[in-house]
Amino acid sequence: MLWKKKSKGNEAAELHSDERELEAPDRALDVLTALIKLYGKYAFDTDQGEAADTEAQCNEWATRIALVTPPAAGEARNDSGTRSPARRDWPGLLSFMQERRRSESDYVVRSMSDFRAAISCFAECLSRTLGEEQKSDQAIGKQLDTLSRALESRDTTRICVEAQQVVQSVRHSIGVRRAREVEQAQMLGERLRALREELAEVRKKAELDALTQLSNRAAFDEHLRHLASLGALLGEPPCLMLADLDHFKSINDNYGHPGGDEVLRQVSQCLSRTFLRKHDFISRYGGEEFAVLLIDTTLAQAEMLSRRLLDNVRGLTICHGGHEIRLTLSLGVAALSPGESSASWLARADAALYKAKRTGRDRHELAEPAR
Ligand code: GH3
Ligand code: MG
Ligand code: MG
Repeated sequence: MLWKKKSKGNEAAELHSDERELEAPDRALDVLTALIKLYGKYAFDTDQGEAADTEAQCNEWATRIALVTPPAAGEARNDSGTRSPARRDWPGLLSFMQERRRSESDYVVRSMSDFRAAISCFAECLSRTLGEEQKSDQAIGKQLDTLSRALESRDTTRICVEAQQVVQSVRHSIGVRRAREVEQAQMLGERLRALREELAEVRKKAELDALTQLSNRAAFDEHLRHLASLGALLGEPPCLMLADLDHFKSINDNYGHPGGDEVLRQVSQCLSRTFLRKHDFISRYGGEEFAVLLIDTTLAQAEMLSRRLLDNVRGLTICHGGHEIRLTLSLGVAALSPGESSASWLARADAALYKAKRTGRDRHELAEPAR
């Protein structure tokens, strides 16, 4: 710091400022991770996904940026044979934030323009109606004035003519208003129908997981409650299958978050190929967890389907970034016991899954019936 004249008094201040310089990168990193988390905390639902998912992804990015991602399996060593250093995935973070911001911006712009269009249509209709009614009221008012002048004249012919004209004008005005009311009711009906369709579309989207296009956790919870309450009426008790990918964290660590996302998509498609019946309810239960609800299925059939799913996932080869990713999953299966609550049903399937993990992974476990 040549520009700074040293004196006894400012040495302490200078030392302090040097220390701050040294701290700067760490401090910047702290602020950046706090900003990423803050962005997630105040995320909102868009066409592309739910606020809760965005928040989870932001928290994950904040952790990855703070902790440094180890090199992917294929790049563990560089050309000279020495080990590549751990790195932060700055391009990944940038493209994630860009994508989120773009989807939020598109959503806000589209929602605002829909809203503006609806308001301007309403305002236009109202002002047209008021204007036309005012004109017709003025014309009738003028004719009523003429009629009252005719009444004063005691000229019966003139009175009859004027009275007839007033009746005609009023009848015409009533006809016009009625036609306009019908037209407006039709217009409003069409607008409402369109809004109802949009709402149904939004609701459908709200039930889907943005990454996998499977039903999301909220839709699963509702379906589970529904099946638990209908259980006794369904003939064969329904079966719940919980699936959790094995060592998924190491897939993220080795192939990056986009690689992990691709695995989640492919496993979702594999689930859809394995459970083909229309009534099989397949959902993304959490990060790398899936849940399947099966009706009209005995526990023995569910066990057979579990084996098939384990085989299908074991047989997957997922190509990503020049790598071939292989994986397995573990399953917990529970048939609904008579009179059982949805929470107890879920807890038994979860306990069975936990046992499948504990006893080696890449396997299924059947839950004991509820006591
Ligand atoms: P286990 O065999 O015991 O289940 O181990 P695991 O590594 O699969 O389980 P763990 O719970 O330790 O790690 C799950 C990881 O899933 C942690 C999280 O970073 C990752 N994850 C959660 N959601 C997503 C997502 O949407 N995309 C990606 N790529 N990773 C996700
Ligand atoms: Mg898990
Ligand atoms: Mg797992």
